[in-house]
Amino acid sequence: MAMASLSPLARALPQLPRFGFLSTAIALPAISITVPPILSDLWESVLRAVPKKKTSHMKKRHRQMAGKALKDVQGLNKCPGCGQVKRAHLLCPNCVKDIKESWKSLQTA
Ligand SMILES: [Zn+2]
Repeated sequence: MAMASLSPLARALPQLPRFGFLSTAIALPAISITVPPILSDLWESVLRAVPKKKTSHMKKRHRQMAGKALKDVQGLNKCPGCGQVKRAHLLCPNCVKDIKESWKSLQTA
C-alpha cells in the first residue's frame, strides 16, 4: 500500500535515501523548463503550436455550412384565384404576374 502512493521515479530508484532536499532536486528538473535568452524570441513565434497551412475558402465554407443544406418546401396549397399550387401565406406568383400586366396595360392606355 505504501508503494502505491510513491511517485514512479521514487519506485524506480528505491536505493536512494528519501531526504527532503534530494527528492526536490530530483523532481524539479522534470517540471521547470528554462528557455535560453537566445531562444526567447523563437519561443513566441516559431515553437508555439500553430496551423501549418491557411484553411482554404472551400474548406472553411464546407465546415460552416455543414448541416445547413436546402430543405424541401412543405407548406404548399392551392391558389383560390387561379387554382395553381403556391406556397402557403405568400402571394401567388401567377396572379401577381397577371395583375402587373394589367397595370402596365392601364398605364400605356
Ligand atoms: Zn393564383
